[in-house]
Amino acid sequence: MEEIKSMINKIGKNITKTSKDIIKNTKLSMQLSSQEEKLKNIYIEIGKKVYEIYSYGGNIGEFFDEKYKEMLSIEKEIDIIKQKIAENKNSDNAYTNNQEVIDTRPNVSNVQECRICQACGQKNNINDKFCLKCGRIL
Ligand SMILES: [Zn+2]
Repeated sequence: MEEIKSMINKIGKNITKTSKDIIKNTKLSMQLSSQEEKLKNIYIEIGKKVYEIYSYGGNIGEFFDEKYKEMLSIEKEIDIIKQKIAENKNSDNAYTNNQEVIDTRPNVSNVQECRICQACGQKNNINDKFCLKCGRIL
């Protein structure tokens, strides 16, 4: 009974964790597209400005230095967001692997690989010679 209870608790916690990750990733993808949108707007601004400059016979200068700096900092933010999304995906995979282990254990391996003490009922490792709980020979 205790095992079943703790399994249910674990599964419940994992579901909460997974949905939190999904929300986190949704927020991050929204941040990502908003940053990409900013970048797009700067491209347009640059294009307009270049057009203006050339149509008035001017030359290229400070404006482009500033815009380039802005673009570099946005690109950095995009990298950070992408990294966070990748990290969340990795932790999802780890969670999936863990669950597989949890699911198969109680049914097969645990039952076959443990030695139950005749005196106290303690589950001991199959290789143990003495009971972990009461010390009797197994
Ligand atoms: Zn025992």
